[in-house]
Amino acid sequence: MLREDQIEVMIDQEKLENRIAELGKQISEDYADREIEMICVLKGGAMFMMQLAKSVTIPMTMDFMVLSSYGNELISSGEVKIKKDLDESIEGKHLLIVEDIVDTGRTLSFLSNYLLKKGAASVQICTMLDKPSRRVVPVEVKYRGFEIQDEFVLGYGLDYGQRYRNLPYVAYVKQA
Ligand code: 5GP
Repeated sequence: MLREDQIEVMIDQEKLENRIAELGKQISEDYADREIEMICVLKGGAMFMMQLAKSVTIPMTMDFMVLSSYGNELISSGEVKIKKDLDESIEGKHLLIVEDIVDTGRTLSFLSNYLLKKGAASVQICTMLDKPSRRVVPVEVKYRGFEIQDEFVLGYGLDYGQRYRNLPYVAYVKQA
């Protein structure tokens, strides 16, 4: 557990949710003539996706995936494993991957390729946060809430040892 003085608010709830509403509006305009399926990457993307979906006004469906984290980056092969796959076929569907944060880009690079191989008509990425300075694998991010510095963040779906996902804002862990 972190002490209260170890965390600092980075993006408050109002700013976060105003921006998420803008993203929802933009997505609804861009896909005005199509139906989309939002693919939530659990668990981190859950709160963001639920908030985003409320401001999407076009027909849409949802599905959920669980991917393994790649663990210790120093020994990582960049391999990502699927722990829970999609429930429905994605053949011919326009997919929007909804993720909490893009860091190295490994997870989303893997997932985009995987979904295209499975026959999706199109795959785009919508992330709440983006840490571009950490990128190792290039990924094309179509929709991003906020670009942030290289800080460890938590809240609004993001965890620290599985806790803090319920915070209604994004905070960062202060360096000692
Ligand atoms: P990538 O494959 O882009 O390196 O990893 C993305 C995943 O790493 C995110 O979905 C998230 O689970 C985790 N991650 C990356 N940076 C942070 C961070 O600052 N805070 C938290 N809680 N998770 C992070």
